[in-house]
Amino acid sequence: MTAAIDRHRLAALRTDEEGRFAQTHPRSAALAARAQGSLLAGVPMPWMTRWAGSFPVFVDTANGARCVDVDGVEYVDLCLGDTGAMTGHALPEVAEAVARRARNGITTMLPSEDAIWVADELGRRFGLPRWQFAMSATDANRFVLRFARHLTGRPRIAVMDWCYHGTVDETLAVLDGDRVVPRPGAMGPQVDVAITTAVVPFNDLDALDRRLAQGDVACLLMEPALTNIGIVLPDEGYSEGVREITRKHDVLLVIDETHTLCAGPGGCTAAWGLEPDLLVVGKPIAGGVPLAAYGMTTEVAHRLVGPMLTAEADVSGVGGTLTANALALAASRAALSSSLREEDFAVAIPLAERFTAGVAGVIEKHGLPWHVQRLGCRAEYVFCPPPRDGATAAAAVDEELEAFLHLWCLNRQVLLTPFHNMALFSPAHSEADVDRHTEVFGEAVDALVG
Ligand code: PMP
Repeated sequence: MTAAIDRHRLAALRTDEEGRFAQTHPRSAALAARAQGSLLAGVPMPWMTRWAGSFPVFVDTANGARCVDVDGVEYVDLCLGDTGAMTGHALPEVAEAVARRARNGITTMLPSEDAIWVADELGRRFGLPRWQFAMSATDANRFVLRFARHLTGRPRIAVMDWCYHGTVDETLAVLDGDRVVPRPGAMGPQVDVAITTAVVPFNDLDALDRRLAQGDVACLLMEPALTNIGIVLPDEGYSEGVREITRKHDVLLVIDETHTLCAGPGGCTAAWGLEPDLLVVGKPIAGGVPLAAYGMTTEVAHRLVGPMLTAEADVSGVGGTLTANALALAASRAALSSSLREEDFAVAIPLAERFTAGVAGVIEKHGLPWHVQRLGCRAEYVFCPPPRDGATAAAAVDEELEAFLHLWCLNRQVLLTPFHNMALFSPAHSEADVDRHTEVFGEAVDALVG
């Protein structure tokens, strides 16, 4: 429906914003030019090419809900490291724990007491009794898929159409009609997803039942609500239906709470009473230090503990040299004892509600067929009515429009998450931060269609 947008006007506005961006970020421009000398494409990681503007902003400091770049420009940070800093940046408790641990040994490949504390705490939050750690949510998902195949002897995994679970080869798959094909943009597919992966549309219980009935699927890996193609919430009864169908077909249900942790201290699993066999969580659980975790039921733990204790555990395909290092676990203990708690969400969620109301007001004022969706302290707008599945949401992605809105906001010191129209709130944000975005977003839409 973004056809209503005048593309010439959009292009002209974007050109103006590019000029303004270049003018106000001379030091980032100089660093970006220097980076071309030694960094592939001038960035340390491919995703960083996707920021708004013709070169990335180089960060200087990040504290609470603010980032400051090398040109001294301060931003209201609504990206929060795409959830990695959902606690707010630079938590003092994490900084202290990291400094203490750094002075006393970062990595030894021995367990530390903090590992037990963090596992106990995750158990309390998510209601699962046994835990392991990984470096990233991607890693945790890879390990869990391996376990699921090992335990069931089945070759395939199932995911939702247009899901994202990290750079896990088998999950970079979408539906093309009835066929499973590599997700557009997936580089050099490592595996043939038509062989490794079953894909079903979100919110379609019949499709799930039909697919799992074939008997070749080890586990269903899913987010409780899709959060990586806008936010797609489950229909009434969908989550319960998924659990019933996965049980019926003996398929392990793996819930990935890496983003949906925004729903509360125990993610959607606690908030909605979900009953996963395994659960993955990553990103903010160590206050920004790389750490992820996966939990499991007693039943899965019983089945898994034998295979995990084999003489060849070091080459089993699970774990890594730096995994569960003392630094990450000290950081996680500090983060989980001082943030992401009920009282923190009690501050952050109303801010996301205020954001949603503000954006909805702008959309309504202009009669646009857009929609803003919220899950806990995360909110995101899409250029279509509320989608019920990933394919519908994907069809409404409008990169030109998105790039313009992001750059407009960035030039007015509001940072949105790249590749999403997503805003995330922490207890460090204020109502004034939310209102600043509403104002800036309103001006952008006025300029475009007013
Ligand atoms: N799971 C989900 C639901 C995610 O959104 C992401 C990243 N966006 C990941 C896993 C992977 O996290 P990471 O990139 O930290 O490995």
